[in-house]
Amino acid sequence: MFLATRGVDVLVVERHESTSIHPRASGQHPRTMEFLRIGGVADEVLAIADWSSDFTIKVVESVRGRVIHSIVENFGDFHKEIEQLAPAGWGSASQDQTEPILLAQARKHGADVRFSTELVSFDQDADGVTAQLLDLVSGRAQEVRASYLVAADGNRSPVRERLGIPRSGFGGLANHIGVVFDADLTEVLPEDIQGLYYLQNPAFTGAYVNTSVRGRHLFSIEYHPENGESYADYPDARITELMRIGLDIPDLEPEIVWKGPWEMAARIADRWRDGRVFLVGDAAKVTPPTGGLGGNAAVCDGFDIAWKLAAVVHGQAGSGLLDTYEPERKLAAQLVVDESLFNYVQRMAPHLAGPDIPEPVGWFEAIMGMRHTSSAVIAEPNDGSLVMNPFQFSGEPGFHAPHVVLPSGESTLDVWGAGWVLLAGPDGGWDEIDAGVQYRSLGDQYDRFGVGREGASLLRPDGIVAWRTTSKADEATLKNVLRQVLSC
Ligand SMILES: Cc1cc2nc3c(=O)[nH]c(=O)nc-3n(C[C@H](O)[C@H](O)[C@H](O)COP(=O)(O)OP(=O)(O)OC[C@H]3O[C@@H](n4cnc5c(N)ncnc54)[C@H](O)[C@@H]3O)c2cc1C
Repeated sequence: MFLATRGVDVLVVERHESTSIHPRASGQHPRTMEFLRIGGVADEVLAIADWSSDFTIKVVESVRGRVIHSIVENFGDFHKEIEQLAPAGWGSASQDQTEPILLAQARKHGADVRFSTELVSFDQDADGVTAQLLDLVSGRAQEVRASYLVAADGNRSPVRERLGIPRSGFGGLANHIGVVFDADLTEVLPEDIQGLYYLQNPAFTGAYVNTSVRGRHLFSIEYHPENGESYADYPDARITELMRIGLDIPDLEPEIVWKGPWEMAARIADRWRDGRVFLVGDAAKVTPPTGGLGGNAAVCDGFDIAWKLAAVVHGQAGSGLLDTYEPERKLAAQLVVDESLFNYVQRMAPHLAGPDIPEPVGWFEAIMGMRHTSSAVIAEPNDGSLVMNPFQFSGEPGFHAPHVVLPSGESTLDVWGAGWVLLAGPDGGWDEIDAGVQYRSLGDQYDRFGVGREGASLLRPDGIVAWRTTSKADEATLKNVLRQVLSC
């Protein structure tokens, strides 16, 4: 969708016959919502879930039983606190409801999306990628030629495997059986409240979460192959029995919509690029879902590679811009995995606590406050810290731009998505320069960006400050900066 909306000719192949029927990636955090807003689908995604602002995360023996640890209550207060900072909002839609929206928008902008179609193999050369596709319905094989290949093919990524790219990290943590089921559970959780319960009781360890589809829920049960157990040891009757215990409903008759094994793991690919092939989403890193960050990180990876590929394909940037994808997104992945792993230990596996579990930088810092270190940023001397508290964004290059309302009445969020934008103090004469970027006046908000009355700040299409100056307008300098950050 992000490629198509930027005018790139794009073909998507998916071997399943439809978008995901699994609700797993639930919730869109503020950074994801910024990108969905640029993609033109934020309103639709926000409209899906009509939860009240209550969001509960608890570690419990059972949903109505003893509370072992309360992690989040009154989430709505936190929402309000960050509204000024991140006005794109929060989504609560689950993956099965989000994907059709993204699909429709991608197709509307010309993407060729083919379901029941498998990427069987591919080869690359200096000029492009040749892929062999198989139509799983007709059995027809087809060869296609593309400039680039984006491997969004999930945790087991056949593309990553074919390229022989290893993964590092904590590795496998636990094995779970995931169950998507329909049931009326209003007696344990009112429908307008979003709830996530980690279940620890003598019968099993697991989790329960409701989804943005009313009456549809997700349940997860840990099982133990190391003790000789297998997925086959959990027929529907045993699953139902454990659900009755976890949900405190002795006569529960769930309608099981889907079930399957999945591995809780923390792994990051050692390389995210191989020539003309880029790994994104779970193909590039897999994180425990404790924190709701995996699907969000996948969307953010997708936005990042899309704006960079679009700039290169349209001839606005040199191919060196594509080298910035891996260092920027791999650090994002590390922050997300550290946060999720820490949460996993706290919520589901206290026995793993210890020095091997990295201290996370903080949830909000991990999603919004990361430093971007690459040739697409002209850094200032700094202390090397990986993150900045988003409440203290200062306009320093490499970090997300502070959010302000400009004298034009626009939010900064509304001006950076379409392309590069120069935000300038009122007295520097920057508006008289034509360097091929959009211009906006900061009016009297120049201090928020640290540029003084005469300076300017250059924002990338992802809202990251690429460069700033306190000096007056200088066309040659600005053009030189653009050449550097665009690898031209
Ligand atoms: C139980 C659970 C709960 C989760 N909860 C959350 C949450 O609350 N919030 C959150 O943000 N994230 C969550 N996640 C993580 C999230 O679901 C993933 O990070 C996200 O789905 C990754 O998206 P992706 O597109 O990279 O991979 P996937 O969604 O796995 O998609 C990859 C696709 O590639 C297709 N494919 C693979 N190989 C080929 C091929 N050769 N040809 C054609 N198609 C192919 C597959 O069929 C698949 O549809 C959760 C995960 C789990 C398991």
